[in-house]
Amino acid sequence: MKTPYATLEQIKAINKTYKTPFYLYDEKGIRENARKVHQAFSWNNGFKEYFAVKACPNPTILKILKEEGCGTDCSSITELQMSDACGFSGHDIMFSSNDTPLEEYVFADKLGAIINLDDFTNIDEVLDTLGYLPETMSLRYNPGGYFTIANTIMDNPQDAKYGMTTEQIIEGYRILKDRGVKRFGMHAFLASNTVTNDYYPTLAKQLFELAVRIKNETGVSLDFINLSGGVGIPYKPDQKGNDILEIGAGVHKVYDEVLVPNDLGNISIFTEMGRFMTGPYGALVTKVIHFKHTYKEYVGVDACAVNLMRPAMYGAYHHITVLGKESAPATKTYDVVGSLCENNDKFAIDRELPEVQKGDYLFIHDTGAHGFAMGYNYNGKLWSSELLLREDGSVKLIRRAQTPKDYFATLDIDDTMAKYLK
Ligand SMILES: *Cc1c(COP(=O)(O)O)cnc(C)c1O
Repeated sequence: MKTPYATLEQIKAINKTYKTPFYLYDEKGIRENARKVHQAFSWNNGFKEYFAVKACPNPTILKILKEEGCGTDCSSITELQMSDACGFSGHDIMFSSNDTPLEEYVFADKLGAIINLDDFTNIDEVLDTLGYLPETMSLRYNPGGYFTIANTIMDNPQDAKYGMTTEQIIEGYRILKDRGVKRFGMHAFLASNTVTNDYYPTLAKQLFELAVRIKNETGVSLDFINLSGGVGIPYKPDQKGNDILEIGAGVHKVYDEVLVPNDLGNISIFTEMGRFMTGPYGALVTKVIHFKHTYKEYVGVDACAVNLMRPAMYGAYHHITVLGKESAPATKTYDVVGSLCENNDKFAIDRELPEVQKGDYLFIHDTGAHGFAMGYNYNGKLWSSELLLREDGSVKLIRRAQTPKDYFATLDIDDTMAKYLK
């Protein structure tokens, strides 16, 4: 069972002011979860969660997470700018990008962010671009092969474009040290959306063992190890979610087993979770506007894949609740579709739902990460608004919906669109 954090009455009231579709975020859920993350890693003095901005790039959300002690993880200049504008500075920003335009290193360095290098050749690039290497630098690791937990393949790092090989990263630390770098970090992201409490501990053990090897071979003692993202959420109602307290305890155990006996017990643990931080605490709310019966039964809604791309792009499952019919039996099988001229524009295929009527509100769960953020403008469709459901039950507009004017603004070159830009 997945229970929406807003009732039909609340949504109806919100819809008087804000038209559907809209994203609704649950401030209470975000804050409580962030506190649990910090509790889970409280055994580690230097722990910091760098929220992956790309998952939910909204200043209001970033400021909530800042109040809860998080930093930000950025991979582009605009994410850096948003972090800066929200008051993040210096080492509260991690810059983990790849195929990085050189001017973005300059901007990241200006903010004092920690720069995490994706490739071996980036070391010289940064040196040439900045004229020096920052005192703190981090390197991204890719062990190749398959990432497995208990003989189950979780992901396929050998096919991933990210990170350096074992030989490259060891040589990398040697070079950084020779060029005067003082503090060193290591980063790896080896599996996505893992719904198991063993992902971080298994990854941590690999990285901790490599940290020992790096110390023995180069004399570099790492200052931090960044376990990055990849901690998943249960999108399906019958899935059991991760227990972040157990995950934290699992990392603690391997920390004590591997790092502490090797005189590396001062290493700070960083994380860069996106999905786990906001995914369950965002929903896309959309209204039923059409029915169609041909070879299948279609429910047409006023949102489409530009508002939420995951089902179209990955065939991702997002649970849907028909608001007000939470306990009605699921007697119908529908395809829930948007209006794009793209046949993959389906929020659900063959989904069992209670019988729906025009005007019903659908609550599409677990869209608080990589949801709005992946929006686009295909078919000239516009972005929705984003709303924050506050702890006192009030609602705040945190991003207005796009208008045709916004859409046409970048075409304002030769006055052709002037009529629609007034
Ligand atoms: C996407 C990404 C994250 C966040 O991943 P989640 O799966 O959302 O936790 C963290 N770090 C980097 C470098 C990323 O690319």
